[in-house]
Amino acid sequence: MCRHLAYLGPPCSVGELLARGPHSLQSQGWAPRDMRGGGTVNADGYGAAWWVDGAPVRYRTARPVWNDEAGAAVLGSARSGAVLAAVRSATVGMPVVHTANAPFTDGRWAFSHNGTVRGWPGSLARLAAELPITDVLTLDAPTDSALLWATVRARLDSDDPADVLAELVRSVGASAPESRLNLLLTDGEQVVATTWYHSLSVLVTEDAVLVASEPHDDDPAWRPVPDHSLVTARPGHVAVTPLDP
Ligand code: GLN
Repeated sequence: MCRHLAYLGPPCSVGELLARGPHSLQSQGWAPRDMRGGGTVNADGYGAAWWVDGAPVRYRTARPVWNDEAGAAVLGSARSGAVLAAVRSATVGMPVVHTANAPFTDGRWAFSHNGTVRGWPGSLARLAAELPITDVLTLDAPTDSALLWATVRARLDSDDPADVLAELVRSVGASAPESRLNLLLTDGEQVVATTWYHSLSVLVTEDAVLVASEPHDDDPAWRPVPDHSLVTARPGHVAVTPLDP
């Protein structure tokens, strides 16, 4: 299962953030510690979005994070105070193409899904039917994550982002039980995340916040997020509330 992170804080190098710590997101590519529900490495690509003038710039590829010289150069030269990044282990039956990699972006938003929807694609048929046909035809990739993103994106203009993720997770959790639905969404100013049968930890300091599938070091300030939670975070602040199964 993929690993992801979101960072808000003082501007830093995007490449340095992905390589930060003895258990960096990069090293979670080849040696994740807490993969639940299958997969041993995250070799099917990776991606990062960083905010410039209020909108995300994105890099993503189907190459593994440890074998991408060009990507390393791009990310090493990018600096931002807001980053969302992910490494991917494709769910069996889903394509290994760069467009299936998070971050999924639109306007000022970027999104990642760590997990899998059971019974895909049939279990999401009702959700897909509620979308405008153009949104279905323009999915980034034929994957559960891309369809979840299309559903989120369709509501972000009008609804509170935390409500959007909470309602989506509850509804997919009901129609496709045993799905793993760790979602991560940010507009570069706030982070909203869910835990639903997957790991997540938070590190908050006075001027920064990191929300990550796995802590990148042994700093005792990392806090594990309980399963079935909704997280909202900004630099210096994090709130965790229970999400009913
Ligand atoms: N199911 C998604 C995909 O295949 C996410 C994979 C994951 O979290 N391992 O892209």
